[in-house]
Amino acid sequence: MIDSKIDILKIRKDFPILNREVNGKPLVYFDNAATSQTPQQVIDVIVDYYENYNANIHRGVHSLSQEATDAYENAREKIRNHFNIAHAHEVIFTSGTTHGINLVANGFTGLLKKGDEILVSAMEHHSNIVPWQMLCERTGAVLRIIPMNREGELIMEVFHDMLSEKVKLVFCNHISNALGTINPIKEIIDAAHKVGAAVLVDGAQAAPHIKADLQDLDVDFYTVSAHKMCGPTGIGMLYGKSEWLKTLPPYQGGGEMIAEVTFEKTTYADLPHKFEAGTPNVCGGIAFGAALDYMNAIGFEQIAAYENELLQYATSELMKIEGLVIYGTAKEKTSVISFNIKGIHPYDIGTILDKLGIAVRTGHHCAQPIMDFYQIPGTVRASLSFYNTHEEIDKLVAAVEKARNMLL
Ligand code: PMP
Repeated sequence: MIDSKIDILKIRKDFPILNREVNGKPLVYFDNAATSQTPQQVIDVIVDYYENYNANIHRGVHSLSQEATDAYENAREKIRNHFNIAHAHEVIFTSGTTHGINLVANGFTGLLKKGDEILVSAMEHHSNIVPWQMLCERTGAVLRIIPMNREGELIMEVFHDMLSEKVKLVFCNHISNALGTINPIKEIIDAAHKVGAAVLVDGAQAAPHIKADLQDLDVDFYTVSAHKMCGPTGIGMLYGKSEWLKTLPPYQGGGEMIAEVTFEKTTYADLPHKFEAGTPNVCGGIAFGAALDYMNAIGFEQIAAYENELLQYATSELMKIEGLVIYGTAKEKTSVISFNIKGIHPYDIGTILDKLGIAVRTGHHCAQPIMDFYQIPGTVRASLSFYNTHEEIDKLVAAVEKARNMLL
């Protein structure tokens, strides 16, 4: 079964954490959609930064500051290149997806008026719902929901019908964290542009699995978090088209984002610094670049092929368990299996799996509207990465079976 295109044994050696035990059992890590693990190559970059060239960037003439600035800007260039972004100044370092979305939502405050419409998909993470609700409260704009079907696919005919000149913004995730659905974002972007609406795609779950070409997608904004793609926490990127980033006002004021300050008036720095107030997460940015190097060295096509094989295997094996229901069965999906067993609370299954060393997530996955849609309190979510194995899936299936027998 193992895809020969990926050297799984070599890859697993790169992740020190995979050698540890949890509750006396070898760790089986299936919570990758929440946070992925970090390879030694990225850990080494972090250690090297603090051991050798930790300094504040952009404003120092001394060597350490220049070395840190070069490494940080080099990471921005790696991100630009990875996502095929036209200009490095369109890459804004953020603390993660949530920060990027709030930056855009805040920036649109002066651009919307009462009665304007914002469309948001029914399968969003709370990060891609709440900032828009807050924007609606500030502006009087109306949030409308693009519905989905039982399989967890957006109902595209309804979406097309909802479009009109009143729609100013459309928000959708590229891949759903709760269901694994890969959304037809190209179709969404093209249709939204026809009525003059801007589109923000939340790429938090897509970036670990798909190398998105942002110029080809012609998306207006795209957000990612490094900690879901082998990088550290507290760093991510917001892509914005130049025209939009020039139009939006700064999100935060402070050092780094100014051109000139007097007590009477401040002028803002050029992009990208206009949106990067304060000392940034220098080490995080550099490590984000290293994480992209690591994943690209394996190859995103190989990663996708292997993960897809794991997904098919895990789905068919889990489906053999009596009473197990999978939520999210879209034709286009990846790496996430959300499930329940009839009559058992997901939390109870998660607790038993943890005792057996298996890390899964239980609950609403910051997507309560999806749980309301299926009328369930939550699910057990196993989310896969390229360093997982078929043997680990066998352990998961055996453990779920055991939990079922204990709890029913
Ligand atoms: N959107 C999606 C689809 C996510 O899966 C997540 C993380 N679970 C977020 C947004 C928020 O990402 P972060 O917490 O890194 O800001």
